[in-house]
Amino acid sequence: MDCRWLFGEYTDPDLDIPKDVKARAIKVTNRYLGPSLWFYILFVIAPPPVIAMGLTRVADDWLAGRLGISLNAASLTLSIVIVLLTWPWATWMYQCVYTPPYRRALRTLGVPICERCGYALEGIDPNGACPECGKGQESPIGDSTQIEG
Ligand SMILES: [Zn+2]
Repeated sequence: MDCRWLFGEYTDPDLDIPKDVKARAIKVTNRYLGPSLWFYILFVIAPPPVIAMGLTRVADDWLAGRLGISLNAASLTLSIVIVLLTWPWATWMYQCVYTPPYRRALRTLGVPICERCGYALEGIDPNGACPECGKGQESPIGDSTQIEG
């Protein structure tokens, strides 16, 4: 199972993408998403972790009494549990929004990658159907006219 999305990596590990191309793709993606990315972060991704952290202020008294540990230890334990539970959710939600335009940006910058699944299309027709997911590509590779202006 590929869990690299937990660490913000959305492409095939076999694909060697130069740092400057990655940086440019991120810039293009951020420009494409614009304020909608911040809206999504503020109103979809952030609320559950923030609400859960707020609930630790209520539950830490109960946990400290129940386990016979200090309030600080109970609060820290709950915080760690909440981070472990909400981090995968938040990164998954983020990558759902971020990955499609990011992969599209990489393709327009000439990186042979499947727009849908992130598979490296090196050595095969980068504009053809992907052997991994079977889907065709929507944006032609290396067509930087799509990102200028
Ligand atoms: Zn694919």
